[in-house]
This record gives sequence, structure tokens and C-alpha cells, in this order.
Amino acid sequence: MNTGIQTRNLYRFEDVYFLGMDVIVQRPMKDLQKKMEQIWKKYKDSDFPILFESKGVFYCGKWLSYNLENEIHLAPGQRNYLTLVHEMCHAMGRDYHDRNFVDLEFDILERFFNIDRGELELAAGLFGVDR
Ligand SMILES: [Zn+2]
Repeated sequence: MNTGIQTRNLYRFEDVYFLGMDVIVQRPMKDLQKKMEQIWKKYKDSDFPILFESKGVFYCGKWLSYNLENEIHLAPGQRNYLTLVHEMCHAMGRDYHDRNFVDLEFDILERFFNIDRGELELAAGLFGVDR
């Protein structure tokens, strides 16, 4: 699948599917930091990424969070667990929004946030997310 389409479909899925769920509630940076460390330790032996409360990067008309090497920058309105997990998947080496990315993202959402994997898979399929 074309990387632009993968990105568009995943963003749309993330924007819609998690509405009303705990993972999109805004959190203090210290809570995000703590959660990031818990998750990172389960997957990686390397140092934690450095978490920044920053303005993000301007992309397609809005300010978005991003990962750059070992830095994770969370933009205003996106300081929540879902965005943290998304950027952590990039920090763990998943550069594109492909199947490997989505597998890791769903794995973390299931293990750390008790989100039903079967429902995630089903809904993601409806949004054309790469599965
Ligand atoms: Zn991304």
C-alpha cells in the first residue's frame, strides 16, 4: 500500500475510533513520562526517548506531534496516551504507518490499556488501515 494512503487511513482511524476513550484524555507530562518508561522497558533495552512538551510540527494545516531520533515531541491537544504510543512506535524504529507499525501499536494498546485487540483489528480494517 502507498505510504500516503497508509498514513491518511491510520490518522483517520485514530481520530475517530478512540473518541470518548481514556487514551485520548490529556495527561500531565509526568504521567506520560511514567507510562512511556513502563512501555519502553517491555520492548527495548536502550535508553528511554526524551519526551518534550513542544508545539509540534505544522503539517496539513495543523500542529502535530512527532518523533525525531530519540526525541518525542507532543503537541498541544495531543498530550495523551494514544499519541504517546504512536510516537513511541516511531521511536522503536517503525518509520512508516505500515503493518509492522500497526501491529506494534495495537500490541501496546492491548497490553497496557486493555483495549480489545479483536475490536481494534476489525475497526482498523473498516478504515482501510494496513493489516
Ligand atoms: Zn506517525
